[in-house]
Amino acid sequence: MKSFPSRAIVREVGLRDGLQSIRTILPTARKCEWIRRAYEAGQREIEVGSFVPARLMPQLADTAELVAYAKGLPGLVVSVLVPNLKGAERALEVGAHALLVPLSASHAHSLANLRRTPDEVIAEIARIRSARDVSGSRTRIEVGVSTAFGCTIQGEVPQQEVLRCMQAALDAGADQVGLADTVGYAGPGAVRALFEKARSIAGQALACAHFHDTRGLALANVHAALETGIERFDASLGGIGGCPHAPGASGNASSEDLVFMLEEMGLQTGIDIERLLALRAQLPAWLPDETLHGALARAGLPKTSATRMSAPLASEIQ
Ligand code: ZN
Repeated sequence: MKSFPSRAIVREVGLRDGLQSIRTILPTARKCEWIRRAYEAGQREIEVGSFVPARLMPQLADTAELVAYAKGLPGLVVSVLVPNLKGAERALEVGAHALLVPLSASHAHSLANLRRTPDEVIAEIARIRSARDVSGSRTRIEVGVSTAFGCTIQGEVPQQEVLRCMQAALDAGADQVGLADTVGYAGPGAVRALFEKARSIAGQALACAHFHDTRGLALANVHAALETGIERFDASLGGIGGCPHAPGASGNASSEDLVFMLEEMGLQTGIDIERLLALRAQLPAWLPDETLHGALARAGLPKTSATRMSAPLASEIQ
């Protein structure tokens, strides 16, 4: 077991993973306010949306405007999700700092979600890499290997297949890879085992963990991933979201609970938890019809918790 890292990055994905799977359409001005206040709280990586056809996801139709807005915040790493080359071309056009391509290791989930097999997605990643190189852009290409711990449609997803997909994504030109428990099947034992193997293959290119709290284990899974040296985690404010293929799913690990845990463990997140909680307190008014999650928003900070005003972490890329 490695020693814990001294710092960790919490990437806010609520504006993408969260909003894509709920009914409420948040107005662009509200999303900008969310981005600005998350930034002011110290968050330095935010996934602002997704370049998918607006007819499929009208709630994310303003992604280009959000990228433009977020790029105005110095030092903020602005990422977007793209399902294919067309989406990647838009991400390159608007100058997103990072684009994230989901690659489902589950054949059945891949067909349901992207209408492509994993190998077809891997071929698309190679085309995205070519497009990035031809454009001269420095946009980071990140591949999130999803359903890495199982799938609601297919059931078991063999570990060898997850690792094969991850290696193939790197061979196709991904700069970084991450592993995602899209449907909330993972537990700390499985997380430790898979991340250790993935680390031995991908080294430092393995750069992100993405957990959903569907069965209440998101933070335990973060802890297990930390033990394998992962320092970057996706999370969504208020734990909003879910997955259309995961019935009963709650959203991602909640950002505020995750920051609280990391800081309590002595890891620097650069995030002012009180400011983040003040932003979290807006969510019931912004999303009145949605279920929100998170223990800290319900119970508040303990009286014994020191107020931290740590300086924002310098981001890896600008
Ligand atoms: Zn997710």
